[in-house]
Amino acid sequence: MAKILCVLYGDPVTGHPKEMIRDGIPQLSRYPDGQTLPTPSKIDFTPGQLLGSVSGELGLRKFLEEAGHEFVVTSDKDGADSVFDQELVDAEIVISQPFWPAYLTAERMAKAKKLKLAITAGIGSDHVDLQAAMKNGITVAEVTYCNSISVAEHVVMMILSLVRNYIPSYKWVIKGGWNIADCVQHSYDVEGMAVGTVAAGRIGSAVLRRLKPFDMKLHYTDRYRLSKEVEEELNLTYHANLESMVEVCDIVTINCPLHPETENLFNEALINKMKRGAYLVNTARGKICDRDAVARALESGQLAGYAGDVWFPQPAPKDHPWRTMPNHGMTPHISGSSLSAQARYAAGTREILECWFQNKPIRSEYLIVDGGKLAGTGAHSYSEGNATKGSEEAVRFKELTVV
Ligand code: NDP
Repeated sequence: MAKILCVLYGDPVTGHPKEMIRDGIPQLSRYPDGQTLPTPSKIDFTPGQLLGSVSGELGLRKFLEEAGHEFVVTSDKDGADSVFDQELVDAEIVISQPFWPAYLTAERMAKAKKLKLAITAGIGSDHVDLQAAMKNGITVAEVTYCNSISVAEHVVMMILSLVRNYIPSYKWVIKGGWNIADCVQHSYDVEGMAVGTVAAGRIGSAVLRRLKPFDMKLHYTDRYRLSKEVEEELNLTYHANLESMVEVCDIVTINCPLHPETENLFNEALINKMKRGAYLVNTARGKICDRDAVARALESGQLAGYAGDVWFPQPAPKDHPWRTMPNHGMTPHISGSSLSAQARYAAGTREILECWFQNKPIRSEYLIVDGGKLAGTGAHSYSEGNATKGSEEAVRFKELTVV
């Protein structure tokens, strides 16, 4: 029997909800490219419930305990005295979410002698040292596509929020004002603007599709070019390199995974190649952007706005500059954890566990690392190496909260 260690974000401050504000979520039949939704043998939760926080337990406890496994769920994930560190030593499986990542560094893996499988209940496994996972024969799997559309919706929301100056205008209402000039002095239409995505994978292409009806000029760059049919259908301009794209875009949205090739991609030099007053939206991973270069570009006006929901490390310390820099529209990492997405990634996590326990292959689209190398989606979208460096800083959130 296995020990499964699951790290989830904490419950709402008001406690785990007894009743949800809506009675359910729409039932989808397939993902947009035809990929099937998760197919576990059964689920023990009602889709639409809060599953991603500690009390929600991804709806897995009954299934795991009835099969005789030990299931430990915690949100205490950072620092040597954390529950995660203590429990990791004899865990066979770790489940973690990118929103509240249990950083699985080489040092932690060295202590986890029984660890065989790391599941990302979501998409994006950069919180795992993938190089060390390959070396230690640990399989890494994620629930590909489970929240790609959720993120694409968030990206569109953030682009509109920044360009139309929604958040400051909302704040004037809360303050009791009617300050139209204050609101509109930074407000534009997106119509006619050029928007470019870094990567046109599941999220990037969904963003382009959703922006097309706004009559914007659509650009993209990616390691592989989309088909001629898709380029024509969406009237896309392809850029073989990132620089040529950012130079012509009013808005840039980042939708590639974090791996050694993309770490720190948006540094000062690249941001300075963007148009003055451009907007940057990053819901991919915080580390793809240079933290201080972003803050400086907002101070100087090189960027008119920055939004996103990804930080490094996570949770971001209270003194992280992105909390206080001007003209930002940051949220905590929530775009891929809507109640709709939770139902899919909880079911997908169960599907992966069922395959694992029954010795059946995990779908190749879910695999990131397997058999000591990048595999499945990992082989396509990632590069070898490690992107967890600096993650121990996450403990500062805890320390600064206590103070
Ligand atoms: P996909 O695998 O469908 O798309 C990733 C795309 O990135 C692929 O087209 C890949 O290219 C491309 N890519 C990889 N490296 C580069 C590079 N160096 N330059 C340009 N393009 C590159 O994944 P999704 O679209 O579903 O998700 C993308 C990322 O978004 C995730 O890895 C994760 O980090 C983040 N995410 C964030 C969430 C949130 O809640 N904020 C939730 C879900 C995802 P190719 O495969 O053609 O090589």
